[in-house]
Amino acid sequence: MNRREFSAALAAGLLSPRFTGSSRSSRGWFAGRAPTVNGERLNRHLAELARFGANPQGGVTRLAYSDADLQARQYVLGLMRDAKLSATVDAAGNIFGARPGSSSALKPILFGSHIDSVPEGGNYDGNVGSLAAIEVAQSLGEQGITTRHPLQVVIWQNEEGGLYGSRAVSGQLTTEELQNVSRSGKTIADGIKFLGGDPSRLAESRRAKGDIAGYLELHIEQGGTLEREHVDIGIVEGIVGIKQWEVTVTGFANHAGTTPMDQRHDALLSAARFVDAVNRIVTSVPGRQVGTVGRMQAFPGAPNVIPGQVVCTLELRDLDYAKVDMLYSRISTEATRIGNENETTFAFHMLHENVPAPSDPRVRGLIAESARALGLTTKVMPSGAGHDAQAMATLGPMGMIFIPSVGGISHAPKEFSKASDIANGANVLMGALLKLDASSMAVG
Ligand SMILES: [Zn+2]
Repeated sequence: MNRREFSAALAAGLLSPRFTGSSRSSRGWFAGRAPTVNGERLNRHLAELARFGANPQGGVTRLAYSDADLQARQYVLGLMRDAKLSATVDAAGNIFGARPGSSSALKPILFGSHIDSVPEGGNYDGNVGSLAAIEVAQSLGEQGITTRHPLQVVIWQNEEGGLYGSRAVSGQLTTEELQNVSRSGKTIADGIKFLGGDPSRLAESRRAKGDIAGYLELHIEQGGTLEREHVDIGIVEGIVGIKQWEVTVTGFANHAGTTPMDQRHDALLSAARFVDAVNRIVTSVPGRQVGTVGRMQAFPGAPNVIPGQVVCTLELRDLDYAKVDMLYSRISTEATRIGNENETTFAFHMLHENVPAPSDPRVRGLIAESARALGLTTKVMPSGAGHDAQAMATLGPMGMIFIPSVGGISHAPKEFSKASDIANGANVLMGALLKLDASSMAVG
């Protein structure tokens, strides 16, 4: 073990006091050394949580509102009790574990994540941030540390289905959406009841802007940047904005044998040129924006008929919404030009949008300080995936911490993060939480 590996292992709490010659008591905290979590216990809890909804391939299918989801929540409630958190389920079905602060007049700091998964998902997405939050609370208790702000560890319900739990709390969830059918087969309303919430009293779970002193979430990166660049910790600059359109290309369906090549209005040919144009335009400007045509269907869809209509999608993502709009405008201009070549037309209908959620620059600074104190390297980066943190960003200062995902794989059984990186992430979370608690920013 070289010096860097040694300090990384030390920071990760993987070396026992016997080897480091120091203890994890609160004396270290008062002496100015950053307090750390029990990384070994955290990783053990993650392995235990992986049993609920376990797949033969090694990952989990723990759909929101399934039996596996409910059982995993019972397990988490047990961990909260062990961590001396007083646990409640709000009307929206989210689990909150509360720990009092020294000043009850202050607004709470929230931190946590989710434990539901996609079908055939992995063991780290959401789980790392959820169990790390509980581990931080337990470590604070064991080390006799009392924060000024009340703390609330939160396990959001149904993140993967569309941030239902966190959007209920931020007030973005509409009553109509309660009738949406989730992947479990239950409606959102029935799912909330199944988890012990009450959809008829959803308003009670709602919080207003300023009701929280801050929100922190640790999460796996779900991409390969940190691993590739050998960086320990990602400091999330914000969660990208997303716009999705349904694109209808209209031409003229005709006989594939008798219509000469120069007299065709082939909608699929235009759509194929469109796919290429999207890629060309999105990559023509510097930056980390992404653009995708993810679905396409040709009509009537027969080998011997020239496609008269194509319905496809366009999705654009970036932290900067103005850039998304600029790219869209270039793409639609190019679509018109492509259509003119063979007399087909393009029509765009917006399906869905998600405004970008920037993290708070001051919280980013606290995360950076916390990582530096632990000897960890950092990189400021956007999150290309959606997270509950984006709903919380509307209520108070938000910060997100990423740890490396091996191979950049996520939403799959091969999703993996190293035990040492998980411990590092939890330690950075703990440090950032204590700095946020002490800062004058989190006065509300
Ligand atoms: Zn997640």
